[in-house]
Amino acid sequence: MIFSEGNQELRALHLPTENPLMRIATAHSLLALLLCWASACTRTNTIDDARLRNADADSANWLMYGRTYDEHRFSPLGQINDQNVAELGLVWSKELPTTRGLEGTPLVLNGVIYATASWSIVHAIDARTGETLWTFDPEVPRARVANFVCCDVVNRGVALYRGKVIVGTLDGRLIALDEVSGTPVWSVVTVDTTKPFAITGYPRVANGLVLIGNAGAEYGVRGYVTAYDAETGDQVWRTYTVPGDPSLGFESEALQRAAETWRGEWWITGGGGTVWEGIVYDPDLDLVYFGTGNGTAWYRALRSEGVGDNLYVASILALRARTGEYVWHFQTTPGDNWDFDATQPLMFADLEIEGVPRAVIMQASKNGFFYVLDRATGEFISGAPFVDRITWASGLDDKGRPVEVAYAGIEGKIVSPAPSGAHNWNPMAFNPATGLVYLPAKVGTQGLHTPDPDWVYDPDDVNIGFDPDYDGPLNAEFGELPPPSGELVAWDPVQRKVAWRAPYPVVEGAGVLTTAGNLVLQGRADGMFAAYRAGDGTRLWEFDAGTGIMAPAVTYLVDGVQYVSVLAGWGGPDGLWNTPNYGPVKPGYGRLLTFALGGAAPFNPPKFGHPDPPTPAIEMVASPAMVAEGRKLFGANCAGCHGDNAVAGPLPDLRYATADVHGQFEAIVRGGARADLGMPSFGNRLSSEQVRAIQSFVLSRAKASSGQPQ
Ligand code: CA
Repeated sequence: MIFSEGNQELRALHLPTENPLMRIATAHSLLALLLCWASACTRTNTIDDARLRNADADSANWLMYGRTYDEHRFSPLGQINDQNVAELGLVWSKELPTTRGLEGTPLVLNGVIYATASWSIVHAIDARTGETLWTFDPEVPRARVANFVCCDVVNRGVALYRGKVIVGTLDGRLIALDEVSGTPVWSVVTVDTTKPFAITGYPRVANGLVLIGNAGAEYGVRGYVTAYDAETGDQVWRTYTVPGDPSLGFESEALQRAAETWRGEWWITGGGGTVWEGIVYDPDLDLVYFGTGNGTAWYRALRSEGVGDNLYVASILALRARTGEYVWHFQTTPGDNWDFDATQPLMFADLEIEGVPRAVIMQASKNGFFYVLDRATGEFISGAPFVDRITWASGLDDKGRPVEVAYAGIEGKIVSPAPSGAHNWNPMAFNPATGLVYLPAKVGTQGLHTPDPDWVYDPDDVNIGFDPDYDGPLNAEFGELPPPSGELVAWDPVQRKVAWRAPYPVVEGAGVLTTAGNLVLQGRADGMFAAYRAGDGTRLWEFDAGTGIMAPAVTYLVDGVQYVSVLAGWGGPDGLWNTPNYGPVKPGYGRLLTFALGGAAPFNPPKFGHPDPPTPAIEMVASPAMVAEGRKLFGANCAGCHGDNAVAGPLPDLRYATADVHGQFEAIVRGGARADLGMPSFGNRLSSEQVRAIQSFVLSRAKASSGQPQ
């Protein structure tokens, strides 16, 4: 019951079918070269360390993930500003072959956009026209990868360096492409491919090295970051985030100290602490920073006998860039029990705090607190809640350690924020003119946490340790609490308070861009792309992109004209689950949109979804008990992709499954008949009888939705 009533956070964590029409054709590199000559692009071996370091002065281009090493996502361009943004209009839009989430930050160099899309596919696109120059499909093995990707087949972007376009792929490769032709220059496998690793994050270039992490702590892996030589792809260093098996010796004193904060045999699962996002670099201090994810399992009772801080999970770490040596750490959620990864974007600033100039690093954490730390030492400067309704902690102590709320005698807890966080990977932005940090906040999301006392590690399955059959006491009931909401928050990191809020009609807002035009630009899950006045949050302009937006926009100049580009594509864990109560979200076909003042391109995006109610495609005799069992199994195995209660978002809505699909139901689910589309086989997890029960539930949902008598 708990499942179907909305444990929005147990994603079944298996990914599935994709519209067969959405397959991609890779462009021929010869054609790419011709097009590239036509648009006058040439190899730019000039993206070197000095150019990256001075990226702020290069207002025409967007050379790095957050535009500059400080990750401000602030553009000094002001042609488009709060006086004329009402004239902003579409110049072109380009359909991308996907219905999945698009989370990438496009990079822009000399009028060429380098954007990543589903399944780690890289597109090089002429910013003037939207024409494709080249496409690179790394051909990740979809069915294998889909088994171990918790949060959609997304990618957040590439790095540009010395004529190369560098991308991490879902199956754990790091590939450097020739900037002009899109053909691989080098490729390295960064993970043990027998383990459930995945890469969704962007590579970070730091002084000739390219750094990449990975994901997989929901399944059971040991987190690490690796540095490769950007010219050759040779490995230079690798630093683990959690200790391994003590009997094998520790790789460093830092990991030996960390091991003292663990109990039991954590290394059997790997321990977690993955670095799936947010590697940043300070060239002055020669430090790299990143956050780490949850431990495996989610619950400390299961992974560490209920004791210890479990370093370095849910932490921010600083390493020496040249060597990967540990320098400092700050753990946002010691002994994390809530899936409060600390992987949210990290941002630098030089702030005057209580009269003292401080070089800080900042994070709006999943756990609901906005942290300001000294980036040389890791010293805690301040931490304050950026959302109302944090229920897991009553506040932070003077060292920044959370004061956890006790739940005496209650095993099952509903807490806010949910595992998807008060803020997640969606990038925030800092405007030096206003002194404000702009971020998408999710208020009052709720997660159910029921540690399964019978959990045992299974290398072929999800290993979060959640008990779907829990029917014991809870601290609250779903439905009693107010529904969640979303807002663009302008946060004052010096005063530690909200300067203004712009509420949305949906819970999820996209990544953020701010400009010298006194603007904040941001999309939302309902497909609206909006411009706000940076100073006071007044909404000045909106455009309906036709599908939900998760990604941040970028801005740049071509031929002296300022453009804004953004990827639109709805998905991610909340999108695939089709989380109830998250507002009028809009799944659809992915696209890249580009805007300029006076733009007036026609825009008629293809319709997505089913206009009419479903009709059950076949008759199936099933007892109420069988349907009830199917409902439970669907929640545990299918809902993470095909939607809560079988109401789907971006992926196929099984209530509309045809007689042909029903005829092949077991072949698809157990036999892997749609593996090439990304639907994994559940042959080792579900029996034929269980698959029949799921089918009966799907048909019952089709009937219930059709208006036919039950
Ligand atoms: Ca996590």
